[in-house]
Amino acid sequence: MNYDLHDIVEMKKPHACQTNRWEVIRMGMDIKIKCLNCGHIVMLPRRDFEKKVKKVLVKKGED
Ligand SMILES: [Zn+2]
Repeated sequence: MNYDLHDIVEMKKPHACQTNRWEVIRMGMDIKIKCLNCGHIVMLPRRDFEKKVKKVLVKKGED
């Protein structure tokens, strides 16, 4: 899957707040994503992220 910093992604499981829109806020060995509803931040290894991400909803720079 092709994803980049500041893309909005959907995960296989929604956050506990029922929102399933996350912004990629850090790329690296670990990926950091932020819940767009409650602002909760999750950091996970790239391999785990790629297993758990469902799709990219919004590419950086598009709305
Ligand atoms: Zn949330």
